[in-house]
Amino acid sequence: MILRVALDVPVPKLFDYRAEDVTRADIGRRVVVPFGKKRLVGLIIDIAAESEVPASRLRVAETILREVAPLEREWLELVKFCSSYYHRPLGEVTAAALPPRLRAPGPVPDPPSEYALTQAGRDALAAIAPRARRLRALLTRLAAGAVSEADLRGDVRGARALLRRGVEAGWIVPIAVERPEPRFEGAHELTPEQREAVGSLRTQLKKFGVSLLFGVTGSGKTEIYLQLIAEVLAQRRQALVLVPEIALTPALENAFRARFPGACIVTQTSASPELERARGWLLAHRGAAHIVLGTRLAVFASLPRLGLVVVDEEQDISFKQRDGVRYSARDLAIARAQIAGVRVILCSATPSLESFHHASTGKYDLVSLTRRAIREAEMPEMRLIDTRVHSLRDGFSAPLLEAVSTRLARGEQSLVFLNRRGYAPVLACPACGWVKGCARCSAHMVVHLTEQRLRCHHCGLAESIPRACPECGNPDLQPFGRGTQRVELSLGEKFPEARILRLDSDAVRARSGLGDLLERATQADILVGTQILAKGHHFERLTLVGVLNADAGLFSSDYRASERSFAQLQQVSGRAGRANLPGEVLIQTRYPGHPLYQSLVKHDYPGFARSLLAERREAGFPPFVFEAVLRAESGEIARAMRFLRSAVERAPTRRASIVLYDPAPMSLARLAGVERAQALMQSRSRARLQEFLREWSDTLYRMPAQGVRWHLDVDPIEF
Ligand SMILES: [Zn+2]
Ligand SMILES: [Zn+2]
Repeated sequence: MILRVALDVPVPKLFDYRAEDVTRADIGRRVVVPFGKKRLVGLIIDIAAESEVPASRLRVAETILREVAPLEREWLELVKFCSSYYHRPLGEVTAAALPPRLRAPGPVPDPPSEYALTQAGRDALAAIAPRARRLRALLTRLAAGAVSEADLRGDVRGARALLRRGVEAGWIVPIAVERPEPRFEGAHELTPEQREAVGSLRTQLKKFGVSLLFGVTGSGKTEIYLQLIAEVLAQRRQALVLVPEIALTPALENAFRARFPGACIVTQTSASPELERARGWLLAHRGAAHIVLGTRLAVFASLPRLGLVVVDEEQDISFKQRDGVRYSARDLAIARAQIAGVRVILCSATPSLESFHHASTGKYDLVSLTRRAIREAEMPEMRLIDTRVHSLRDGFSAPLLEAVSTRLARGEQSLVFLNRRGYAPVLACPACGWVKGCARCSAHMVVHLTEQRLRCHHCGLAESIPRACPECGNPDLQPFGRGTQRVELSLGEKFPEARILRLDSDAVRARSGLGDLLERATQADILVGTQILAKGHHFERLTLVGVLNADAGLFSSDYRASERSFAQLQQVSGRAGRANLPGEVLIQTRYPGHPLYQSLVKHDYPGFARSLLAERREAGFPPFVFEAVLRAESGEIARAMRFLRSAVERAPTRRASIVLYDPAPMSLARLAGVERAQALMQSRSRARLQEFLREWSDTLYRMPAQGVRWHLDVDPIEF
């Protein structure tokens, strides 16, 4: 028989191997095969009686890995869809979809189990030599009752090796963990609006469809999907929940555990340790996990009894993978729900224009929540501070400073928001105009005063701050602009008595993670933060949000910038006044008349979205057209451009309804020492664009690489 195997190599085809004793039941299993001089783990996609490869060149598969049940048809359909839609070889997609441990030929990790002491173990404990302190500690711990390996490792140093010794000696045995049935802890009573939303969604769970759960910040969207997950678990099915931020998953996981006691909840993020990720993945694959919670890669979890998919903050750009297989986890979640015949719920207070558009044309089912769930909490009052009238000192207008000091006097909390970390975004020489750029990127380096370093926020390159201008020798180099560190310092000068805390990714790194920092944040009088603060944290005493450089997103060349800007401003505004204290939001801007701000102060996202959609329709941008880019990367921009030009020359000729633009360098042309250019194509028909890409990609794979790495990016978000 012939195995048709997907392998993680950049060639868009399956590879044939000979094998004995295989049946169709092996489709979806992993297999170890020789490839060149290497051994690779691939996935069996099909089994055939014969191959187009001459028998003399067919190699024999080494081992079919049968200790894991084969991946099911639905999962295979998902990766096949991903491969064909994003035009990446199936082997690359399956490799990206599986946890690293399962891509290697080693043994599969055991499911987490508990360990118990045998009678022989008890006898051994009584007879053990006093100097074997750690072994004694381990056995004593087990003598008190069954313990999980994780707990043992927390309590006893070297527990893993001791456990293995104990198991070999017959003193210790692993026992399967008995799981109680998951329960659901109801929270406070639902509002009438929430009850209606749950009611209407509940009836639609068993067939495919997309629901857009659109609700203002604080309207209790999470509560609604928790209720629906409870429903799905009661039907003995599994739920998949995708969230944008790795940093938020621990808090969310705890919230889930509190609401679903007894449920097996598994998290999948790229930050999880490999072993943990593989174990979690296997629990889901075996059907033991009730809920899989994770960032974009969790969309590939194997869930044989999938009953519901939730994508929280569906508009978040982190759902788009930026390298390798460039998929959108939000869009794959929809494909996945369709394959499984279940409902997918997209949640947002500021839906992506794509989703908003589909909801308004009826393609998606729209469920709106217009009120905040806690009765006393009103929407915050939003005010624009015209900085042409109120001049800024150290980045602050007088009304904003006044508002902060009122909060200090009342013992309430203020949040100063600015989406720029570091001390100053630019270091320049006022004498000759020299500006410090990154040696590896077409970007400026950012001054970080706390660490006395310059950092590139694109590639991470760090350097010490120069003492003088390298061009003219002027020792008086000036930091221009303002980042969170600078704002923190000037607030400290203005309010010396206040407890000020900065929350940005630098602070998270310097402390022991976001959780620790959020703990401290409840004690602070003034928080200075980036978008890391904008999501999902509740601060009881927070009644003021001040936004410093809101205008930055208004005039970007990226047509999605204003949509993101609105989402971010609304999100951060939602931090104000969530409990029973009324909130106020002050936004400093030079353009108070801009439609974005006018809609924002009225809390009118639908109005804003409709006006943006009208603009997009006029200008011919998504969601009214579909886009893809062919991108080329090289050490020299000329090479990348040459490759793209010759690729464009060889593009399929019959291409009515496809507009293919001339190649151009990307807006951030140089990143980490790599020059990047791309050719954009657009079409009003997704099917036509896909057809075009399929044909073109066949040609591209046959073109000589000429020292260039290329890829197609479908539905790109970077230009
Ligand atoms: Zn100079
Ligand atoms: Zn850089």
